[in-house]
Amino acid sequence: MASESLDLYRSAGLSEVDPDIAALLGRELERQRGTVELIASENFTWPGVLEALGSMATNKYAEGYPGKRYYGGCEVVDEIEQLAIDRVKALFGAEHANVQAHAGAMTNTAVYLACLEPGDTILSLSLAHGGHLSHGLKVNISGKLFNIVSYGVSRDDHRIDFDQVRALALEHKPKLIICGGSAYPRIVEADRFREIADEVGALLLCDMAHFAGLVAAGLHPNPVPYCDFVTSTTHKTLAGPRAGFILCKAEHAQAVDRGIFPGLQGGPLLHTIAAKATCFKLAASQPFKAYQRQVRANADRLAADLLAGGLDIITGGTDTHLLCVDLRSTEWTGKDAEDRLHEVQVTVNKNAIPFDERPPTVTSGLRLGSPAVTMRGFDQEDMAEVAGIIVAALAENADLEALRARSAALCAKHPLYPGFRGYCSYEQ
Ligand SMILES: *Cc1c(COP(=O)(O)O)cnc(C)c1O
Repeated sequence: MASESLDLYRSAGLSEVDPDIAALLGRELERQRGTVELIASENFTWPGVLEALGSMATNKYAEGYPGKRYYGGCEVVDEIEQLAIDRVKALFGAEHANVQAHAGAMTNTAVYLACLEPGDTILSLSLAHGGHLSHGLKVNISGKLFNIVSYGVSRDDHRIDFDQVRALALEHKPKLIICGGSAYPRIVEADRFREIADEVGALLLCDMAHFAGLVAAGLHPNPVPYCDFVTSTTHKTLAGPRAGFILCKAEHAQAVDRGIFPGLQGGPLLHTIAAKATCFKLAASQPFKAYQRQVRANADRLAADLLAGGLDIITGGTDTHLLCVDLRSTEWTGKDAEDRLHEVQVTVNKNAIPFDERPPTVTSGLRLGSPAVTMRGFDQEDMAEVAGIIVAALAENADLEALRARSAALCAKHPLYPGFRGYCSYEQ
């Protein structure tokens, strides 16, 4: 490295000013390239999105909203944020959008700030049955500030138990009902939740963090017409930057905007908002629809072949991009199965299944998803090979060496970020 100086810092790239981090980012890219990524909440975002994320828009303070900022010099970033707002409203047919949330959890907290008082009751899907920590986990702000009542799935078919949802709603009169979660493999029926919300005079929030990409492509019913609020991440099926956004009816627009700023956050991340705008543009395209159709086909094939290989799948399959393996009929815990698959270069996460008797650090399930591998080009035949690797890895006397080679062959067949010369798209 050349001798240190401000002039060097002003002009040099990362590998010159911080070789440690540059090397780690290089290793992380190679890890992503060399493993079969089945974590259902992950994806490989577009190079164009990475470029926007790495842009100098990160430098700009812009507390407030387009046209109403607390800082000068916002004329360009106003256009960036307005473009993101207009695009996401058009994509999902929403009356109002807020694109400033730094992450998915923030979107939900902002909605609570917009419509609840501390002590109010929320009716949401239990974490143990596939909900999300921001829907009322005891140690999360949602669980600390609000009275949480949880509904679940039914014991026989593991689908949302609407009789229970309705009974709990009538009994507890929640101010807000939340539908959607992190590990529910079936359609989220916002229309049925709306009927119950109307019956008890509750507001309805759908958290589509996981399946927003399927909604954008018309492969999952759009919750927007039925809900007062819809929240989402941008980095899961939507394949954009790590962040979130909120859609709502016009009557809640001001409360939601105030919930995010100044309720929860300070200045927005304009580089991320630029990347969100790009994500929304690409998500409205025909190629994105084709991508999502492949995500669905790949999830179906993975579920079918795991079933054929003798593994149990919660609800017997999936309507979405994710599926949950029930390991209770095997020797494996979720934790041990996750570790074993890691040894053969398949990345998954252990996950509690409904009525799980093991603790959340162990669990009896695995959650698998198809968005990331589909992004790098896997098709149904590749998913059959993935299922074969998983089944063989969990069998007795598995030949781990041979299985690692099979995972490596799949990764070599579908290169990730083939145009990259280093750890990011525009490193020289
Ligand atoms: C992932 C997820 C979130 C939170 O997203 P973060 O960006 O990790 O804060 C919120 N709700 C649901 C249902 C999710 O799956």
